[in-house]
Amino acid sequence: GGFQSMGLSYPVYKGVMKKGYKVPTPIQRKTVPVILDGKDIVAMARTGSGKTAAFLIPMFEKLKGPNAQTGARALILTPTRELALQTMKFTKELGRFTGLKTALILGGDGIIGTPGRLMHVIQQMNLKLQSVEYVVFDEADRLFEMGFAEQLTEIIRRLPDNRQSLLFSATLPKLLVEFARAGLTEPVLIRL
Ligand code: AMP
Repeated sequence: GGFQSMGLSYPVYKGVMKKGYKVPTPIQRKTVPVILDGKDIVAMARTGSGKTAAFLIPMFEKLKGPNAQTGARALILTPTRELALQTMKFTKELGRFTGLKTALILGGDGIIGTPGRLMHVIQQMNLKLQSVEYVVFDEADRLFEMGFAEQLTEIIRRLPDNRQSLLFSATLPKLLVEFARAGLTEPVLIRL
């Protein structure tokens, strides 16, 4: 069960190797094949588990190659600016051989952002979410604790129905389970 047995394409595999990852972490071993299979997931994972690469590696695999889309194809929502910056850095490093563009939402266009900022950008700049194929709610319990529930529901309402949705969270409070039930399609629950 190494990265080479996951069926990754060369540009994605090369990014992983260049980052120095030799073997997948347990959460990566459990989530990556399910995500590659196209399923929605709810994964219970903490910071330090390798959760970021767990959603980035299959994201690159799904989005690589030429496309006619002009809008953002993936959207990663994080509770804080700090985590958004860190995820942005990871995305650039891991995805450097994929040819995909990455951007942080700081009042412009991009694919990584905090929900409050994203809603602001959507309203101000009429950012279309109709091109999004892949959405990640990272540290979802914190997103909810910080009071983003309404914005998240609004964002999800604007995404196309055929998107793939992933939710990563250290804990699964009732509100989050309800959100996942309403916004995800038959999600696979993954615990360590
Ligand atoms: P995260 O849980 O996403 O915050 O990642 C925690 C740390 O684990 C980061 O420094 C990652 O670069 C590192 N990491 C992620 N996946 C692997 C892996 N397969 N092998 C070694 N380190 C990893």
